[in-house]
Amino acid sequence: MNNENIKQNFSVIPGLNMGLFSPKDLAGILDIINRYDVPATKITGAQRLALLGVEKEQMKAIHEELKPFIRESVPNGVTYVQACPGQEWCRYGKADSFALGKKLEKLSFDEPFTAKVKVGVSACRMCCTEPYLRDVGLYASKSGWTLVFGGNGGGRPRIGDVVAKKLSDDEAVDLAQKCLTFYQKEARPTSRSSRFMERIGIEELKKHVFE
Ligand code: SF4
Repeated sequence: MNNENIKQNFSVIPGLNMGLFSPKDLAGILDIINRYDVPATKITGAQRLALLGVEKEQMKAIHEELKPFIRESVPNGVTYVQACPGQEWCRYGKADSFALGKKLEKLSFDEPFTAKVKVGVSACRMCCTEPYLRDVGLYASKSGWTLVFGGNGGGRPRIGDVVAKKLSDDEAVDLAQKCLTFYQKEARPTSRSSRFMERIGIEELKKHVFE
């Protein structure tokens, strides 16, 4: 295979509101992409925007121009939050997944995580953002949020464990924080939550987060 023409530079733009753009913001982002002659763009599996084939020297300037469209990152936060369109935009939605997602994006911890922490929020039981395969997954029903912990969709997949059901928004955020704090304190360095849960089990996690 001839690799001469392969362009491997790319940059992923975080903080674009879980993949939800207003038409005005999308036009602004497109204007920047066109002015810098970005050869290709991609919506990633994590609902972010990847700029493909961009030269390293241009990235700083592009990031600077994109700042008005990007949420500020919090210190020691989760890697990313995905959310489905939710009750405002989907007829099956039972809750506001973006509102909950925004609260989860703001969670801040004492130390940085040593492994990725992915969060998926779905506004109904159809689970379009695959919450059972995320480190923290939440899905809504009429009676509230179900919180799932320790899922992974990678090469060694794991279905997460249900920690609690019928949660309000605030209870869901509080429980997510407790699960992640416990995981951060007790997990081996670089261990994802899936491997951590395989080691300690759901009853041990519940014992600590509901103490
Ligand atoms: S999870 Fe439910 S509410 Fe969300 S997009 Fe899918 S079907 Fe719609």
